[in-house]
Amino acid sequence: MDFSIPPGLEDLRQRIAGFVETELLPLETEPASFDAHENINLALLDEMRAKARDAGIWCLQLPREDGGLGVGRVGMAVCYEEMARSIFGPVVFNSAAPDDGNMMVLSMLGTEAQKRQWLDPIRSGAVRSAFAMTEPHPGGGSDPSMIQTRAVKDGDEYVISGQKWFITGAGAASHFILLARTSDDPRSGLSAFLFHKDQPGWEIVRRIGIMGPEEHGGHCELRFDGLQVHESQILGGVGRGLKVTQARLGPARLTHCMRWLGLAKRSVEIATEYAARRQGFGVRLADRESIQLMLGELGMQIEIGRLLVMKAAWAIDRGGFARAEVSMAKIHVANVLHQAVDRAIQINGARGYSKDTVLEWIYRYARQARLVDGADEVHKMVINRMMAADGRNFWSWPQQGPTEGGGDSES
Ligand SMILES: Cc1cc2nc3c(=O)[nH]c(=O)nc-3n(C[C@H](O)[C@H](O)[C@H](O)COP(=O)(O)OP(=O)(O)OC[C@H]3O[C@@H](n4cnc5c(N)ncnc54)[C@H](O)[C@@H]3O)c2cc1C
Repeated sequence: MDFSIPPGLEDLRQRIAGFVETELLPLETEPASFDAHENINLALLDEMRAKARDAGIWCLQLPREDGGLGVGRVGMAVCYEEMARSIFGPVVFNSAAPDDGNMMVLSMLGTEAQKRQWLDPIRSGAVRSAFAMTEPHPGGGSDPSMIQTRAVKDGDEYVISGQKWFITGAGAASHFILLARTSDDPRSGLSAFLFHKDQPGWEIVRRIGIMGPEEHGGHCELRFDGLQVHESQILGGVGRGLKVTQARLGPARLTHCMRWLGLAKRSVEIATEYAARRQGFGVRLADRESIQLMLGELGMQIEIGRLLVMKAAWAIDRGGFARAEVSMAKIHVANVLHQAVDRAIQINGARGYSKDTVLEWIYRYARQARLVDGADEVHKMVINRMMAADGRNFWSWPQQGPTEGGGDSES
């Protein structure tokens, strides 16, 4: 097993690290950098995105044929961590959720025509996007088989009605991917529709207030009442909605983890820097064993998260799905992020609770990590199901050679 990275990737990582250090970190201490929802303000975002594009650090996640840098999932794991050293990083490099996951699924499953219409404008940064799946009770949340939004065929069109909520970015999005029920078949009852914000037949009911900082466009509740979508705008084909969801959420969970590791490392960085200079009772905090144990433990937990992410990324790059690894990474990294920022606040004392560092921002943001894209309990249930199905083979190593897959196969 080889954990070394090629020189080209290391060069890209260093360029991202340099950009974050010189361009983005200084912005975080300026209140004027933020919009009303605690994200980078749009004028500054445009300016920084132009600089990132000029520097050739843009949308690296897409394959070259779709206008990206083709670094693969392993390359993304290396680079996303570096981007997320800054709370503004991912969105500046066009690697933030939900656009990131939406672009990847369009790239994977879109027809050529769909890619040019729906993917290219997100890639260039001309528009933003949203993925609309979750519904309020009694609709689908953790369990997508409960989705109630309906799409009824009428000639070449589907007419859609229903309700969604917590749709990230919906208030600023132009391109939407919407999960709706096209039949009651338990395996092939869902389809994924592409629509533009200017189409009639839907509305934003409200922007839901949340405890943490918000992505641009917030988290919205949507109502559909007669939205018409042409059958050519179904992603992946009729009845393939569950497959689209798996293809959308698997990689997106992993890229969440990559970014969260960057935020966890940043939290440790701020704690380490303070502990090195803060004195109390005659000694530096950094010289106290209790502080050293806290930081050492975090270093180990973050590295476990990186290994889980890297193993899943490696498996996906080889054509596998790495479902168990993605679920494990999602649970572990979400909790490590929480732990890292909580301990970093503790080590920083009152300063940690203030807005003088980004720790309190990260702390409020971190709570969602254990819920979004599958709550911890759901991922544990999934892992247990795979253990029950695979028995002792659950722990087998992938074989080298032509069948090398490094992950489970699609079923
Ligand atoms: C900040 C944020 C952004 C989001 N963005 C989007 C988005 O862009 N698009 C989108 O479609 N959705 C989005 N969501 C919704 C998110 O994906 C759902 O919240 C998540 O899938 C859980 O669904 P739910 O909230 O309906 O929880 P429920 O299904 O109601 O579950 C509630 C709780 O029950 C427990 N639980 C559920 N199932 C099990 C089980 N099998 N075993 C044990 N315990 C269980 C868990 O603790 C879970 O947290 C977002 C949510 C948040 C908070």
